[in-house]
Amino acid sequence: MNNCIFCKIINKEIKSEIVYEDDDIIVFKDINPQAPIHLLMVPKKHIQSVNDLEVLDKEVIGHIFVVAKEIAKKFNVEKDGYRIVVNTGRNAGQAVFHIHFHFLAGREFSWPPG
Ligand code: AMP
Ligand code: ZN
Repeated sequence: MNNCIFCKIINKEIKSEIVYEDDDIIVFKDINPQAPIHLLMVPKKHIQSVNDLEVLDKEVIGHIFVVAKEIAKKFNVEKDGYRIVVNTGRNAGQAVFHIHFHFLAGREFSWPPG
């Protein structure tokens, strides 16, 4: 996807602060953090949103959550807690149409969300 900012980060055409990477996913710091720890967990495959998931994507989406658990340990927030968010479409404020999981931690979050 030529014009996708996250594909460019994955291909190292744009710099980011990568905290984890393997063959299938990348995790980097959000450029505009909304919490002391704000990471984006992104499959390397260009999938636009939850609406575009296929059955064969099950594995990578599950993998993201298993890595999230390790990230929580690495950042020492597994006890205090954290929030994983996937914005989908206009009402949720999705701005980048390459599916991503926000990993937010380091402060208390309100519920319901704004
Ligand atoms: P969303 O509104 O769920 O689509 O979130 C997109 C997120 O991507 C926002 O939190 C942005 O701050 C973040 N973002 C956009 N461009 C970059 C970038 N170049 N590096 C890191 N994070 C970015
Ligand atoms: Zn992309």
